[in-house]
Amino acid sequence: MKYFYEEFYVNTENRRDLKNITEDIEYIISKSGIKNGIILAFVPHATCALFANEDEPRIREDYFKLFEKLVPQSEEYKHNIIDNNADSHLLSALFKQFYIFPLKDGKLVRGTWQELFLAEFDGPRARKVVIVIIGE
Ligand code: ZN
Repeated sequence: MKYFYEEFYVNTENRRDLKNITEDIEYIISKSGIKNGIILAFVPHATCALFANEDEPRIREDYFKLFEKLVPQSEEYKHNIIDNNADSHLLSALFKQFYIFPLKDGKLVRGTWQELFLAEFDGPRARKVVIVIIGE
C-alpha cells in the first residue's frame, strides 16, 4: 500500500467563484504512480468548499443563483461586525471541504457530468488544495 501527498494552489478571481480542478487532480494521480485505491481532495479553509457536478456555462450561473438564494450577501449577519464575510462562512458550512473518489486503473471513477469544483465564497485569493492518494 502506497501513500502519496501533494498540495497545490488555485487562484480564484471573484468573491464567489468556481474553479474546475479535475485536470489538476488527474495530473497528480499520474504523478503519484498509484493506479488503484482512493483519492482524497481537501481544502483547509473555512470560506470555500468542494463539490462534484456538471461544468457548463448555464449551470454555472445556476450554481451562483443557488449560493445567493441559500445565503444572500446583502443580509445582515453578526459575524460581519468583526470580519465582513459571514455569508462566506455560512456557505462553506453548508458544503463539504473534502471529496473522495475511487481510483481505478489510474483514473478517477466519476460520472460523465461529475467535474470537481473548488467553490470560492470569499475570494479572490489563493486556495490550498491537499491531495492524498492511498493505494497501489
Ligand atoms: Zn470570518
